Amino acid sequence: MLTSSCNSKCNSCSYWLCEAKHLPMEKISLIANELSKSDIKSIRLTGGEPTSHPHFIEIAKILKSRQNAKIILNTHGHNLIEIFPKIKNYIDGYIISLDGSTRETYKSIRGVDWFDEIVRIPKEIHLFSERIFVGYTCVIQNKNLHELTEILNIGKNSGADMMSFTLPTFSEGVFNNDSGRILKQQRGLWITSEQDVNFKIQLEALKSSRLQNGNNFILQSDGVLDNYFEILKTWREGKAHTLPDHKCHVPKSSVVFSENEQIKPCFMLKAAWALKPDNNLNSENILIFRENFYKAPTPTECKSCYVYPHVMENDI
Ligand code: SF4
Repeated sequence: MLTSSCNSKCNSCSYWLCEAKHLPMEKISLIANELSKSDIKSIRLTGGEPTSHPHFIEIAKILKSRQNAKIILNTHGHNLIEIFPKIKNYIDGYIISLDGSTRETYKSIRGVDWFDEIVRIPKEIHLFSERIFVGYTCVIQNKNLHELTEILNIGKNSGADMMSFTLPTFSEGVFNNDSGRILKQQRGLWITSEQDVNFKIQLEALKSSRLQNGNNFILQSDGVLDNYFEILKTWREGKAHTLPDHKCHVPKSSVVFSENEQIKPCFMLKAAWALKPDNNLNSENILIFRENFYKAPTPTECKSCYVYPHVMENDI
């Protein structure tokens, strides 16, 4: 998490309301050094909007030069084509938010009028290299529920390599300020019981689209899409705690460095410790957390996390 700064105004996020804080360059060098001694497979640059970090291009260069991991950028995509020539040699893949199939829906969810620009990105990047991965991600909510298949078609026709559909985030750890207000805001995005039938129809249509688009174009399997429906209903009824215990692999294989110079076991969870001069990837805190996490019942935070429907399908 390079920065809390963002110039989009998404209804599913609070970062654009926070005071901007950027992870300082000396801390980034420290992390880069530690990563260079590890065999970590991929580094995901997130925020806020990571490209808003004042030294973003330099950061991408430093990380790419220190080790062999794939560097993936999560971005809103605004101005990406402009900066692409400067980062093309450092970033291996792009995950771009696409929450509507029209300018109107996109703007009503993201608060900015960038739709036309966003849908040009995959083809522009692939003109440079077909090998650079470009995927879109869409947060399903009551404002775009009716057009999930159109969003999928826009993604396909734009030349993207993958389309991911997630649920809104209800895990407090993601929001570093005013989590009570944010949770209320997030509940405003939930699909209502009146929309359940349409939601089912849209999920079925996504599943059937695999015949035309290939099995892997939608990241989520049929089982995960089915779980979305059941889990969202459980959240809506305030019964997340009744969902079964299934343990997520994320804390086992990842560490998150946040813009406020802390580390935590996953993007969604609150537990966080101060960044140290070394051994953050396998620090004592992280090891103790992992041990307890896999021994104890699944925390309710996990059951309110959009990764959980995947965990339900792939129990470990
Ligand atoms: S289920 Fe979500 S909150 Fe829990 S460990 Fe996995 S990613 Fe983190």
